[in-house]
Amino acid sequence: MKYYILFGPPGAGKGTQATAMVEKYNLHHISTGELLRKEIAAGSELGLKAKSLIDAGALVPDEVVEGMIESEFKSIKDVDGFLLDGFPRTTLQAEALDRILAKSSESVTAVVSIMIPDEMIKERIRHRASIEGRADDAKEETIDNRIRTYHDKTEPLVAYYTEKGKYHEIDGTGTIEQVRQSIFDTMDKF
Ligand code: ADP
Repeated sequence: MKYYILFGPPGAGKGTQATAMVEKYNLHHISTGELLRKEIAAGSELGLKAKSLIDAGALVPDEVVEGMIESEFKSIKDVDGFLLDGFPRTTLQAEALDRILAKSSESVTAVVSIMIPDEMIKERIRHRASIEGRADDAKEETIDNRIRTYHDKTEPLVAYYTEKGKYHEIDGTGTIEQVRQSIFDTMDKF
């Protein structure tokens, strides 16, 4: 099994590129953001708790998303691997992922990181807000908090995976097709 992590700031284009990646490499896409939005839409207890945190631009507790990931790994079998999108988002989540995979003698295959500058993050999120209508894209304050959360809590993962020789950065500022091609060029190596 291959375990790819799709990494990058909010609005980098992870969701857009994930669709092409799962198709080409026969992967199962796990987006923790999507899973959480489903819980919110279903009005579950977990969804209710997650909603206020997400709307504030904060992260939901590590153990919540870790549980989601582990149960997805267990329930999906008929693929060549997994594409993790939006997870891990903290160093503790990355360590938990390593432990979860080690239980079945597996490990992270590669981190594909789509990088764009902060100015572009806001531009992209504003554009997405007009199309998808996500609550956490609507408020300027929420977007600023997400960018801050990304720099404080998620960006340390760049060093975490660089040290392990697993970090591969892609320039996310080009067209959708250009970014997709750079991603494929990287993934073809594994
Ligand atoms: P984006 O693509 O803009 O980064 P996501 O759809 O991945 O947004 O996530 C939306 C929100 O869901 C995050 O801002 C966060 O509150 C919550 N979330 C998603 N994944 C995680 C995670 N791994 N750990 C904690 N919170 C998460």
